[in-house]
Amino acid sequence: MTIDTTGDAPPIVPFLKRAANGLPYLAGSRCEACGHVFVGERTVCAKCAARDRMVAVRLAETGKLYDFTVVHRSFPGVKTPFVDAIVDLDDGSHIKGTLLDVDPDPKTIAFDLPVRIVYREAAPVNTGGKPYLTYFFVPA
Ligand SMILES: [Zn+2]
Repeated sequence: MTIDTTGDAPPIVPFLKRAANGLPYLAGSRCEACGHVFVGERTVCAKCAARDRMVAVRLAETGKLYDFTVVHRSFPGVKTPFVDAIVDLDDGSHIKGTLLDVDPDPKTIAFDLPVRIVYREAAPVNTGGKPYLTYFFVPA
């Protein structure tokens, strides 16, 4: 896990949490009935429809690139191109995010590329420069 943060920037999404020691992690839910893991908090399993059988878990921090797109146009101030990715985490959950440290050329990015999650602070344009804690994928 790579952390490039000064410590107290608020998480940019609700499922990005900080442990008691301040270290970030991604929170998920695991169904006790079927074992499927989802990003974020849930009360009902979207796979088997079990109710109130979801338990809070930390998501895996490694996985494989399932799919991606290279984004060439974005909001003003957002540097392009960047790689928007969907990753199958090793716990069976699926998550979307930005893949860093790769050439944004589809010919050079392999499906099933092993990746890991890193946590960094970013200052989205719409926050007026106020930093937020976020996560990215990098090749493992
Ligand atoms: Zn289930």
